Amino acid sequence: LPAQEAFDIEYWQLEEAKLQRLPKPKALAGQIALVTGGAGGIGRATANRLLREGACVVLADIDEAALANANEELSKAFGKDFVRPVRIDVTSEDQVLSGFAETSVEFGGIDILVSNAGLASSAPIEETTLALWNKNMDILSTGYFLVSREAFRLFRAQKIGGNVVFVASKNGLAASPNASAYCTAKAAEIHLARCLALEGAEAQIRVNVVNPDAVLRGSKIWTGEWKEQRAAAYKMSTDDLEEHYRSRSMLKRSVFPEDIAEAIYFFASDMSAKSTGNIVNVDAGNAQSFTR
Ligand code: NAD
Repeated sequence: LPAQEAFDIEYWQLEEAKLQRLPKPKALAGQIALVTGGAGGIGRATANRLLREGACVVLADIDEAALANANEELSKAFGKDFVRPVRIDVTSEDQVLSGFAETSVEFGGIDILVSNAGLASSAPIEETTLALWNKNMDILSTGYFLVSREAFRLFRAQKIGGNVVFVASKNGLAASPNASAYCTAKAAEIHLARCLALEGAEAQIRVNVVNPDAVLRGSKIWTGEWKEQRAAAYKMSTDDLEEHYRSRSMLKRSVFPEDIAEAIYFFASDMSAKSTGNIVNVDAGNAQSFTR
């Protein structure tokens, strides 16, 4: 090599090594994320993931005790300036409006909405009461509509695009036994995301969906009544249920809140800058979707 070229190569290698040693800029520094259901299993793991990337996170939840607990845990880990709890019932138009207004006044707007508040329910169709049906629709469909509408209003006013991630469910794509209300509400949620992706595209508002399969740790859903109802639906004991979910996956692995949070972070960040209207299943490869 000519001397000058060799010198340049060595120079750039040294520069590269120096860059590797410097702290990496955080991907979401300066961004404001509002996470509904932020005090629950997936919401809290998501808040943690976004905080690690430098975002400020507003935890929105209906459960005040869980909210206080999540706020304390995350403020201790990341600093109290980065975390805000706000009580919002996503089914209440008034609370959604005031919660978003409060956030907007305090932070000057939002960049990311993670719409995740939810529940799980299980009942054969003959035993599905109108109240249970409406509860699923209210939280999982109407609630997602209300928070998305407020986020869109803010995004359009801010004129810098925006980012929405829905946490839906594999059950919004595939039917699951004894869960018609839940599956139908989740399917509506997924279709709402597609419609919003189309509506928001021109303003660079991205909308994507993460579909968890059963999350077996950290979630309040994975306790008590629901677990027993699911075991009954699959005609097995509660002890066998976890193994059922694990073994039906191609990877033979269980799915945890942190796995869902990682996919949400992907959609919330510029790693997915050219993705909208997309759905990612985090299910360890649900073998039921494949013919083998
Ligand atoms: P979780 O019960 O731990 O968390 C849900 C959170 O939503 C709770 O903190 C709850 O208080 C909050 N919430 C419920 N109703 C609300 C309302 N009206 N307004 C505001 N907050 C409300 O459960 P999770 O597993 O973290 O669930 C998160 C999302 O993931 C839900 O949409 C759920 O349907 C979906 N999901 C969960 C699983 C699973 O197996 N856990 C599987 C697929 C999809």
